[in-house]
Amino acid sequence: MRDLYEIIGVDKNASQNDIKKLYRKIAMKYHPDKNPGDQEAEKKFKEAAEAYAVLSDDRKRQQYDQFGHAGVGIGDAPGAGGFQGGMSMEDIFSSFGDIFGGDFDPFGGIFGGSGRSRHIKKARDLKVNLKLDYSDIVIGTEKTIKIKRNETCDTCSGNGAQQGTMPKSCLQCNGSGQIKQMTQSFFGQSVTVRECPVCNATGEVIENPCRSCGGNGIQRKSVAIKVKVPPGVADGNYMTLNQQGNKGPKGYQSGDLIIFFEENTHPFFTRNGDDVFTEVIIQFDQAALGILLEVPTLEGKAKLKVPAGIQSGQILRMKGKGFPRVRGSSRGNQLVRVQLETPKSLSSKQKKLLEELSNLNGKSDPKFTRIDLE
Ligand SMILES: [Zn+2]
Ligand SMILES: [Zn+2]
Repeated sequence: MRDLYEIIGVDKNASQNDIKKLYRKIAMKYHPDKNPGDQEAEKKFKEAAEAYAVLSDDRKRQQYDQFGHAGVGIGDAPGAGGFQGGMSMEDIFSSFGDIFGGDFDPFGGIFGGSGRSRHIKKARDLKVNLKLDYSDIVIGTEKTIKIKRNETCDTCSGNGAQQGTMPKSCLQCNGSGQIKQMTQSFFGQSVTVRECPVCNATGEVIENPCRSCGGNGIQRKSVAIKVKVPPGVADGNYMTLNQQGNKGPKGYQSGDLIIFFEENTHPFFTRNGDDVFTEVIIQFDQAALGILLEVPTLEGKAKLKVPAGIQSGQILRMKGKGFPRVRGSSRGNQLVRVQLETPKSLSSKQKKLLEELSNLNGKSDPKFTRIDLE
C-alpha cells in the first residue's frame, strides 16, 4: 500500500494548495479522456483521487497521519473499499469535478454522465461507539458490529416506484434535473441553472410510490460490518469508513461510518498514554529479601524481579510491556507500583521469629518528616 503523500508527490507538511495543485497535475496526466482504454492510467487516476479524497479533507488527513491507511478506511480495512473497489469514476468526477476546471466536462464523454448537478449531495454520516478491551487494543483486532442504516429498498431497487411501474421523466425539467433560467440584466443576457423543485433534481417523478419505502427508495436495515481496529488505539480515537454510512435517496452519495473507540475498564490495569499501570501487594519480608514475581501483562504473563530492600510505593518498570504506538514500532511500558503489606495476625511461631528479629535490629527511634500537600 503506497503512502498517500507519495502518491500525490508532496511531503507531510504540504499545504492544501500544493496538494490540490499536484493532484490536478496527476489527474490531468492520467485522465481517462487522454488515455482511452489504458488500464494502468485508470488505476493511477483512481489511486490519486483516493489519496486526494483523504489529504484534501483536514479531518481525514489528520486520521491518516495518526493511524495510516486503516485510519481512513482504505487498504486492508475490510468493508472499507480501498483502491480496488473504492471510488468509482463517477464518484471522482462528482467529488472533484471542479478541479478539472474547463478542461473536461465532468459528466461527459465515456462516463455516460447524467447531466446532474455537479454539487454532490451526501446522505447522513453514521456514528457508532465501539467498546474495546485492552487485550484487543494491544494486538489490534477485527470486530463485527451490527448497525442500523438506511439501505436501498429491495422492493423497488431504490427507484421508488411501485412494482410493475417505473418512474417517469420529469416534465418540468425534461428529465435533466435542472432548470435553466434566462435573466436580462444591464450586462446582457445570462443563464442561471438551478435544481428542479418538482423532481428534486433527480429528473424523474414517481406516480405510484413503492409501498415498502413510500417512494424514497430507502429502507432501514440491520447490517453487520467488519471493522479492523489497528493496534494501539485509545479512548476517543475514531476512524472513518468511507461511504459505509446511510444510503441516501437517488443521486446522493452514501454517508460515512464513523467509529469512535471506547476502552473498557480493566480489573487491574490502568492506561496512561502508551503506558499501563498496575499495583502489586507483597509481604514486608518479601520486600526485604527480594522476590521474583510472575506479573500479568497485556499479553500473558512476565517475570518481574523485585529487588531486595524495595520500599513501599516504589515503581518498577517493565520495558516495552505497554501499548504499541499506532504509528511506529515502539511500545510503552508497564509500570508496577509495589505496596507492602503488614501482616494483621501472626502465628505464635511467626511472632517469636519477629521478636527475635526485632531484638537483633536493636532499638531505633522513629523518624518524622513533613508531608507535602499537592
Ligand atoms: Zn421501495
Ligand atoms: Zn424535474
